[in-house]
Amino acid sequence: MSATTVDLAGLAATDRHSPDWVRISYASALALRFQSGRFTRPFAFGGINLLLSYDRGCLSDCGYCGLARNRPGDYEEKSFIRVEWPLVETDELVRRLVRHEDKLARLCISMVTHGRAYPDTLDIARRITTSVATPLSLLVAPPTLNEARLQAFRDAGADMIGIGLDAVTEDLFRSLRSDVPKGGLKWSQYWRIVDAARAIFGPWKVNCHTLVGLGESDADLMAIFARLLDRQIFSYLFCFNPEPDSRMGDLPKTPLERWRRVQLAKFLLEERGIAPEQFEYDDDGALVRINAPRELIDSVLADGHAFMTNGCPSSGGEPGCTRPMGSWRPTEAPRDFPWRPVGAELDGIRRALDLDGLVRPGPGPSRPPELCAPPAAGRVSD
Ligand code: SF4
Repeated sequence: MSATTVDLAGLAATDRHSPDWVRISYASALALRFQSGRFTRPFAFGGINLLLSYDRGCLSDCGYCGLARNRPGDYEEKSFIRVEWPLVETDELVRRLVRHEDKLARLCISMVTHGRAYPDTLDIARRITTSVATPLSLLVAPPTLNEARLQAFRDAGADMIGIGLDAVTEDLFRSLRSDVPKGGLKWSQYWRIVDAARAIFGPWKVNCHTLVGLGESDADLMAIFARLLDRQIFSYLFCFNPEPDSRMGDLPKTPLERWRRVQLAKFLLEERGIAPEQFEYDDDGALVRINAPRELIDSVLADGHAFMTNGCPSSGGEPGCTRPMGSWRPTEAPRDFPWRPVGAELDGIRRALDLDGLVRPGPGPSRPPELCAPPAAGRVSD
């Protein structure tokens, strides 16, 4: 954390906690001028991500997370998704949201598992929604919630709910998030909150974050995408990128070739109406074949949206939360693009996909357009 971002004079670390203080993503700090700096490539950035902050941090202990309770180090020093999250005063943040409102597309408060997370999220949500009209998502901590609390979030003005499922099978969830050294999360409670959020917030207003590379197969991922698609719930894709010193910190990053295949297959299933049976897997569940018209796939490649960051949209349907650096380090080439990829970026995607080996002629879309997912990456106007 950079002490230059806020005036910390006279405040002990334990005094700087939510709801009066929050962390914000490094990209948000740049956009709101809490820090000076630039993105390596200029692009319209309007997705502001907040994270609750407590002196003991998150009380969960997930194997891959930078904030995990059992990860060595002082919470103040911990990174989250590998980059700094500066701590700022909530009311000053809201003042800056008001000042920059014309450039904002989507706001999001990420909860952590903590006894105060629910009332503090509600408090911060109200401070925001009474000051700015930018749509607000909440990335919730299911252990702290129930139906009544979700309804209170809606009444406070949040319009979308995200659930960080991350692990896409019950066994994997249990091994990484439940049966862990310092207490665990429950798969059943996560799904209870998914169901309740869907009932309260409606179609395409709920999303599950899913991670590629925790030990699941491509078939596991595609099964959950299909299950959520049928229920008009978004799946948002993240790429596993090891967090140093977490229990999974030494594991390799997801291979680029696999990541690109999953991005393409997910998009064909959700937004182009290709049926689940048209994707073939080997005995280990790895995607080896897509049976679909080559022209359709070439057009998806040329269009580029399939490879953009999945995130909650702006009120106008353009990309909202684009989380630059959510799945890749600032020094790396993007895994998911916060902008629409073009030119050499599309060439790189094509090389990683090796379409001649992957695609065989097959039927076109069978899912009617009205049952397909709206764009998870939003749509950039050309
Ligand atoms: S995609 Fe972004 S705005 Fe939506 S829930 Fe996830 S972090 Fe929040």
